[in-house]
This record gives sequence, C-alpha cells and structure tokens, in this order.
Amino acid sequence: MDLNLGPAQAVAELHRGESVTRCRTKNCRQRATTIARKLHAFGRSIRQIELCDRHAEAMAARERVRGLKLVDERGATCERLA
Ligand SMILES: [Zn+2]
Repeated sequence: MDLNLGPAQAVAELHRGESVTRCRTKNCRQRATTIARKLHAFGRSIRQIELCDRHAEAMAARERVRGLKLVDERGATCERLA
C-alpha cells in the first residue's frame, strides 16, 4: 500500500490551553500553556500534546522546516477581547 502523503499535506495547529498539566517534553517542568495538534490530510487528527511556550515555539519551528502548514490560533482572540 502506497499512501504517498507528503508532509505538506499535514497541518499543525497551536491553541492556547487552559490546561494545568505540565509540558510533555521530557525533563521540562514548565506548565503547559499551548496545545499543539497535528492533523493529517483528510483532517484526521494524529496527535495532541501539551507544551510550554518555549517548547511550543521549538516544535513550530521544527514543523515549519519540515514543510507543515502551521496554524497559530494563540493570541488572536485574546487581542480582540482586550
Ligand atoms: Zn516545555
């Protein structure tokens, strides 16, 4: 079976999280403020992880390099409400 799905067909979303869990990065003890969600083509969710700001940025940079479309939903609503 050859699915041939390129990374360009996947999307990574960043959402502001209210979560009180800790960052999922190994050895990171920061509180998770961002929920990173990866979606494959067809809109199927692959996985969701909670990350602190710093690691969310690191992940975003990594995914950008890999060619994923990045959707940053953080801040947009906050600024409008302010
Ligand atoms: Zn972290």
